[in-house]
Amino acid sequence: MTECGRHARRLRLAAAGALAFALGFGGALLARAQDASYDVVITNGRVKDPESGLDAVRNVGISGGKIRAVSTGVLKGKQTIDAKGLVVAPGFIDLHQHGQDAENYRAKAADGVTTALELEVGVADVDKWYGERDGKALINFGASAGHIPARMAVMHDPAQLLPSGDAAHREATPEEMQQIMALVEKGLKRGAVAVGVGPAYTEAAANWEIVQVFRVAAKYHASCHIHIRAGAPKVGEPAGNFPGFEEAMAAAAISGAPLHIVHIQSTGGPNVAYELQMISEARSRGMDVTTEAYPYTMGMTSIEAAFLDHKENEPDSYFATMLWPATGEHLTRESFLRYRKEGGMIILPSNTQENIDAAIESRLTMIASDGALFNGHGHPRTSGTYARVLGHYVREKKALDLMTALKKMTLMPAQRLENRAPAFKDKGRIRVGADADITVFDANSVIDKATYEKPLQYSVGIQFVLVNGVAVVKDGNLVDGVFPGRGARAPISQ
Ligand SMILES: [Zn+2]
Repeated sequence: MTECGRHARRLRLAAAGALAFALGFGGALLARAQDASYDVVITNGRVKDPESGLDAVRNVGISGGKIRAVSTGVLKGKQTIDAKGLVVAPGFIDLHQHGQDAENYRAKAADGVTTALELEVGVADVDKWYGERDGKALINFGASAGHIPARMAVMHDPAQLLPSGDAAHREATPEEMQQIMALVEKGLKRGAVAVGVGPAYTEAAANWEIVQVFRVAAKYHASCHIHIRAGAPKVGEPAGNFPGFEEAMAAAAISGAPLHIVHIQSTGGPNVAYELQMISEARSRGMDVTTEAYPYTMGMTSIEAAFLDHKENEPDSYFATMLWPATGEHLTRESFLRYRKEGGMIILPSNTQENIDAAIESRLTMIASDGALFNGHGHPRTSGTYARVLGHYVREKKALDLMTALKKMTLMPAQRLENRAPAFKDKGRIRVGADADITVFDANSVIDKATYEKPLQYSVGIQFVLVNGVAVVKDGNLVDGVFPGRGARAPISQ
């Protein structure tokens, strides 16, 4: 809760107390509801709250960035949003969003996302990362303490997002290992909301190193968000990734750290259904393990990634399935090798439609986009993931009911983080006292518009998006010049 929110709440409580004294308790409540004047009121929308199960037409009163009333009664506000015929849902929480700048935040807001978190890769310098965004962000943001960037910093890897030098290819010395773990721990002390791990990108990090990272996470009740080893999208190869999956499960069981397996629909390869079953079994035995998926058959990653080493002798058909998003061209052996020297992002097949559907439709998975845009280029998942699930999987295919889909986008990601970062107890819910992060959409028309060719095309049907009570989308259009996003952070311990 913010200072001004706390102040406003105190005033209201004091006023209510005085009225209760004067009128008796019932009269006080009545007087309070009639006199209430809110910053914003959302009227006549169908409120859907996955935590309480509330699914009914209500008016929502918002003041000081918080939800103050959810009511059938008339509420007065300085601003009124008419949500008749629309769904009023908690704002979507994206646990997997790499792009963390204005361009990306606009695409996320237009897709209904109110909190975007960089948890898979994470960051090495947590204070600097949050400081760069404070007061300048359209939506809420947050990051994990990342093993990959910590390894890159300690081992002086020259690459940008993902390692291409020593951090990918060399075993750490005992001294380096100590420094890497110290950097991850420092990030946690500075309020990182989770720990990012990616053995697929740090192939030379042995099982032992991964267990060490999990031990650090466990000490801070931080979930490990892992891109499992040997399960990265492999063109034309069955991904025999059980060892990577089981490495993550074992590290969690040994250390006690909560485990979150990222994009299971891609790294699960042909084993998606088996891995979902294994997660369900582990959960039934008390393990804290969760997972996520995004609704596309193609993936995107760095062309320098270690799992794309030694591909020179692959057949032409292997390269033809890959897309270079900067130009939209399909690759050849020659262009693949040329671009690999240049560096950049590449789009490549990740799994069959059947396996994607199994992951998205599972009650176990959260929806998370793995999004990133770079000057208009990138993968459509950045701009379209949430509207695609609501439009395609809920409305068109009827594979998910709307409340279940919303739960996968709101309550489940909030619950994943709330032990470590209690701020998330007030996100992902429509209830009095929750943060006023709210997405109002038309369930009859919401759909994604981003394509592999045009990844910047925003979703439609997302009519209003509020971040901490401030509209960032109004009548389906982005609002300029507002920066209500706040850093979502765990308590700082040192
Ligand atoms: Zn990944």
